[in-house]
Amino acid sequence: MHTHTHSLSLCLNKDISKTLVHWVHVPSNSKVLMLLGQLERMNGEAMMRDVETARQVTAKIFHLIQTQEKSGKEVMSKGSSGMEVILASLEVSRGRRVSVFVSKGGTGILFQILISASKELPPSEELMLQLHSLLAKVGPKDRKFGVKARLSGALNATVNVTKQNLQNTKLLLPCLQVLRVYSTNSVNAISLGKNGVVELMFKIVAPYSKKNTTLLKVALDALGALLKSKTNARRAVDGGHVHVLLALYQDWHHNDARHRHMLIRKGLLVCLRNITNIKLGRKAFIDTDGMRILYNSSTECLPVRTLDPLVNTSSLIMRKCFPKNRLPLPTIKSAFHYQLPHVPAAGPVAQLYSQPPGVDDVVDESDDNEETDADTENDTENEEDDKDQGNDDIETDLNKLHPKNNPGRPFEELRVYERFFLELSEDFQGYNFEPSKSSSTTSSSFSSTRSTRPIIVPTAQALSPKHIQSPLLLGGIATRRVGGGGGGGGSNWGSDCGSEGAEDEAGEGAVLEVPDTALLLPLHDPDLYVEMVKGTRSVPQYAEVAYPDYFGHIAPTFKEPLQERVYGVQRSKIFQDIERLIHPNDIVDKVVYDLDIPRAPSDSLKFNSQFESGNLRKAVQIRKYEYDLVLNSDINSNHYHQWFYFEVSGMRVGTNYRFNIINSEKSNSQFNYGMQVLMYSVQDAISGRPRWVRTGTDICYYKNHFARSSIAAGGQKGKSYYTMTFSTSFSHKDDVCYFAYHYPYTYSTLKMHLSKLEALRTPQIYLRQDVLCQTLGGNSCPLLTITAMPESNSNDYICQFRNRPLIFLSARVHPGETNASWVMKGTLEFLMGTSPLAASLREAYIFKIVPMLNPDGVVNGNHRCSLSGEDLNRQWQNPNPELHPTIYHTKSLLQYLAHIQRAPLVFCDYHGHSRKKNVFMYGCSVKETVWQSNISATSSDLQEDLGYRALPKILSQIAPAFSMASCSFVVERSKESTARVVVWREIGVQRSYTMESTLCGCDQGKYKGLQIGTRELEEMGAQFCVALLRLKRLTGMRNHQHLLDLESDIIGTSPTTYVMEEDEPSFLEAIDYSAESNDEDAEPENEHGGGVQENPNHLDQLSDGETNHRD
Ligand SMILES: [Zn+2]
Repeated sequence: MHTHTHSLSLCLNKDISKTLVHWVHVPSNSKVLMLLGQLERMNGEAMMRDVETARQVTAKIFHLIQTQEKSGKEVMSKGSSGMEVILASLEVSRGRRVSVFVSKGGTGILFQILISASKELPPSEELMLQLHSLLAKVGPKDRKFGVKARLSGALNATVNVTKQNLQNTKLLLPCLQVLRVYSTNSVNAISLGKNGVVELMFKIVAPYSKKNTTLLKVALDALGALLKSKTNARRAVDGGHVHVLLALYQDWHHNDARHRHMLIRKGLLVCLRNITNIKLGRKAFIDTDGMRILYNSSTECLPVRTLDPLVNTSSLIMRKCFPKNRLPLPTIKSAFHYQLPHVPAAGPVAQLYSQPPGVDDVVDESDDNEETDADTENDTENEEDDKDQGNDDIETDLNKLHPKNNPGRPFEELRVYERFFLELSEDFQGYNFEPSKSSSTTSSSFSSTRSTRPIIVPTAQALSPKHIQSPLLLGGIATRRVGGGGGGGGSNWGSDCGSEGAEDEAGEGAVLEVPDTALLLPLHDPDLYVEMVKGTRSVPQYAEVAYPDYFGHIAPTFKEPLQERVYGVQRSKIFQDIERLIHPNDIVDKVVYDLDIPRAPSDSLKFNSQFESGNLRKAVQIRKYEYDLVLNSDINSNHYHQWFYFEVSGMRVGTNYRFNIINSEKSNSQFNYGMQVLMYSVQDAISGRPRWVRTGTDICYYKNHFARSSIAAGGQKGKSYYTMTFSTSFSHKDDVCYFAYHYPYTYSTLKMHLSKLEALRTPQIYLRQDVLCQTLGGNSCPLLTITAMPESNSNDYICQFRNRPLIFLSARVHPGETNASWVMKGTLEFLMGTSPLAASLREAYIFKIVPMLNPDGVVNGNHRCSLSGEDLNRQWQNPNPELHPTIYHTKSLLQYLAHIQRAPLVFCDYHGHSRKKNVFMYGCSVKETVWQSNISATSSDLQEDLGYRALPKILSQIAPAFSMASCSFVVERSKESTARVVVWREIGVQRSYTMESTLCGCDQGKYKGLQIGTRELEEMGAQFCVALLRLKRLTGMRNHQHLLDLESDIIGTSPTTYVMEEDEPSFLEAIDYSAESNDEDAEPENEHGGGVQENPNHLDQLSDGETNHRD
């Protein structure tokens, strides 16, 4: 160790002396600044280029300072040098002083001194120690630290000092600390790797020892950061270090029995985690038995909660390295194909079916273009990347933000739609207003049903006297029911019973107990349902009826709370998945259901989904009580899996079954936030409880190991599917149970409800049902007109009748959003009701309602699309009359209304939202769009009637499920072809909305903490009507500007927030231990414990180019 005891006076110039005179009087931050000034000046002066002198001056300055500062004195008394004093002073006040130091250029000065000092041969060890200690403190606070280090040449200076002092732990430690910070910069990491620093770090990391653990930890952190570079990761693989790291991890795992060195163990795992970001690393990991090593060590760690970070990181690595499996399908194209009348050249269907035959669309031939990535790794600076890109979907073209109110079509073309608006010209002459004869005024051209083929339904016995059947007799009925289905399976589903032969025969004469729901479900009638099914056309030509749709659903009276997520569920599910690889002999891997190939029944569970809205393509038994389920793509599509509805039978009572839907696509789901699946038990139904109930435990949603081909992932390679897993047990032997994503609501159900609504009509109600058009699949799209009959045919009444403002409602453009239909049911029932409110409402408005914009999608079990393989709610700008008839004609109705100056007061399209809670609206506001973007707008652009806010505001006051805070009135570019934006922009309807209802539940209001049910959804639909009545009063009062203030008071003016993503807090277990994202946190961990948690918030934001708002 050198000693430096030159005289003080020699080294002090006048400036420094002056500074010191004032030193005591200035605040501590300023002291740092002055000090910096002195250092900088010294560095600039020729006489001070002598490094030794610089070191001394620095030291002595601080020595002098210390005579004025108590805390400094203490440091000095231990013989500390000047730099240590700087360190001590920088540690005060929680780093604020460091920030000042950084902001005034302190880092650069230190680097310059480091460069100068390193030119001395040999460099001053003490100065190097001081400088690196200081840099280690400053580095983490300076965002530009890495760049400054590289540009100044300090990178190599530190590397050289490190290489020359591998045995000198006192100097090595601060050098490694600085290298750790350098390495967090990706360009530095590559550069350091080229200079041998990766190999250097591997020389330092060592087997278990109680010595030098701090040093080891820092070296591992630096190494971990370096290995984020793909070239460095490759270097490590080529050097055989994956094996080394695994051996070291095992060594520490076995020897660190008291878990004193968890951070070292974690550091080793982080290195492995980063190496396995490249394919070669994953291969090396598998080849060196990494799966088994980490699986076994994790299993041993599981009981100790404090070791969770190790288990989680191990789990992440194992999931990445788990060989990508092929989805067990011949093709991801829908199992059903519908021949379109013409295929648009550039559309998704053309792409889908233009693939040459024999191309495997399930997996990419090669998913490893990353080996070339490593060679061309980006070594340019990207630290300035602006992460605030969430808002670039906002419409900024002011021209597009001003509604056109230009129907765009000649009236001659639109005139044919006059026939859907008879009420606007009706004069009721010759009509007798005596109540008893009123029925002749309403027409229903809709209720025609066409029976095109024999249909086999369980209802043949429905009229028989009711008594509870023995369970197996129900099976007998089920057998006959599926018998004509052609490969539906399940003909022997009661085989567990052991006496099925005799009972089956009994089943022939069995009667089915049909729950009597007429009082509770006025719109439901099983016989009528079957009649309706006969007229429904499906692509697969379904010949079966699902019991729940036949029996009906009575909402349970008990509460269904959001499910608490149990800690560790996801992890344990993932470990079970990993065990498929570790213990392959335990895996059954038997296909038990397959739409593509009919299967013989077996002793496993039996699955079926060959009924309206059903969606299950395949079921594979994995373990005795565990099944992988594959959903079918939307017809003429190769993705959009989310909706499911299927039947299960042959269950064992009291056994816990695990079900995994393995081809989910969205990157997150409400199944992670309290949502359960729905289950319907036929046994319960015939015992008088016909209802869907929320069910399932151990529910979670996470990225799995099934490869998703780039064809289905928007061209992105290396993507995976997600698993939605749930477990459940069954209460009844020989039951038939159904599972669904949400409360089913089929097209046949709608037709039944509309038919029954007809019966609710009173003489005061004007109800007309028209067929708007036929769908591609040959189903009718109903259009309803509801208003009040005029009191008489006197001129005044007729005039009032014809001039009522119009309200235009639609729903279910997205088939998977069944909740929208339940809300619509609530609206329709309210409108047809006898309450004074309903009467007032009918007198106030004419309602035009298209309750199901996508019947084909609903019938065929699609989630998102119509038969054209397209999202119909992206076709409103330019709907094709052949491919998108329901949209084309609905838009035409609105264009017709605009032409005759009768554009509706309110347009609202009902939807469901899979990622958010509550019910809320999206609307269109120029002002709020401008506010959320950075475009400059003149004040005239910002003058906007606040009327668009009135309806949602009223709803937030009267509808318990509705949340104003979740509403948004921003116009997005990606939504420019949705109903909401087109009706606003082209038809000129200011109050044009999408109403989104949660599929999950509420986190505010009366239903806070509860999952949503049909009762709440129907209530929402009714409250929507009530709100319209209040809106009427508001708009009726407000003829002119001076009342605008009043409205403002009522509806409020604070802007709503623009929420891009789902609004859930992240939870401890990340959904996505992503194999492809390489951007995990690089924060060096606090060496003094703590800070070891995995950052849970690495959700794959990108998803599949799919938007998160669901309208
Ligand atoms: Zn939707």
